[in-house]
Amino acid sequence: MATRAKKEIYAKLARLGCILCRQQGVETTDTEVEMHHVRRYGGKRNLAPVIPLCAYHHRLGDSSIHQLGHKGFIKYWGFSEMDLLERLNDLLQEKS
Ligand SMILES: [Zn+2]
Ligand SMILES: [Zn+2]
Repeated sequence: MATRAKKEIYAKLARLGCILCRQQGVETTDTEVEMHHVRRYGGKRNLAPVIPLCAYHHRLGDSSIHQLGHKGFIKYWGFSEMDLLERLNDLLQEKS
């Protein structure tokens, strides 16, 4: 992916805010987000294999992806990073 296109997508993602906060009905568009790279992804619908997460949900909190790990995350939340990626791509399409 070209760097400029990537930058644009990252900027878009950052504006959406933490996808996990959003999933819980909290829109935290003013919170700084970190990009989490989802390892397995497929399908042309995916605009970027990254999901925006706040630091807490990304690596700091007990319920964060990096504390729980891939399997633990699914167990805890009932959905996977892939599901969040799907949700994100839907959001991106709604807004564009
Ligand atoms: Zn969050
Ligand atoms: Zn990460």
